[in-house]
Amino acid sequence: MTLDELRVLVRTVPDFPKPGILFRDVTTLMGDGAGFRAAIAHMSDRAAAAEADVIAGIDARGFIFGAAIAAALGLGFIPVRKPGKLPVPVLSVDYALEYGTGTLEIDPGMVAAATRIVLVDDLIATGGTALAAAQLLRRAGGRVASALFVIDLPDLGGADRLRDAGVSVDALLEFDGH
Ligand code: AMP
Repeated sequence: MTLDELRVLVRTVPDFPKPGILFRDVTTLMGDGAGFRAAIAHMSDRAAAAEADVIAGIDARGFIFGAAIAAALGLGFIPVRKPGKLPVPVLSVDYALEYGTGTLEIDPGMVAAATRIVLVDDLIATGGTALAAAQLLRRAGGRVASALFVIDLPDLGGADRLRDAGVSVDALLEFDGH
């Protein structure tokens, strides 16, 4: 399946979760068997090219794509979680979102020193979430070489912010606007 065919499977929901936001919903892509498989295949190829030792995925949609990529490549998976979910002492970071604020946590024991991590999420907008996740993984001793998304919203500048932080960025699809 081509990237143009994948693009058609993304549902756009206006005014969610706030007026003025065009929510790019990957649920419909995940619900299409051929589409989901193709997205995972494209992303796995790119994670392999980035020489990932391990995949980290961001709660929650990054878990769905990241875990499938990790399994396809035979790599381990590190969940970057919303607060209060991990049963061990965590590293934690607060960050600003396009709509609100958030906190992410990891189990630092899952990050082997100098491991080459490819970070995965469904979408990059302002980049605040992915930057926070990269910071956490680096604080735990990991090397965050690159980040991989289904969708980039380039008008919001997140990919550039991530590149400025030394993380190479790749996305299957780009959409204009918010
Ligand atoms: P950001 O931190 O601004 O890059 O936002 C990225 C996170 O928020 C991702 O986990 C996305 O799932 C979600 N997100 C932000 N903006 C949108 C949007 N327009 N459509 C769908 N998801 C979004």
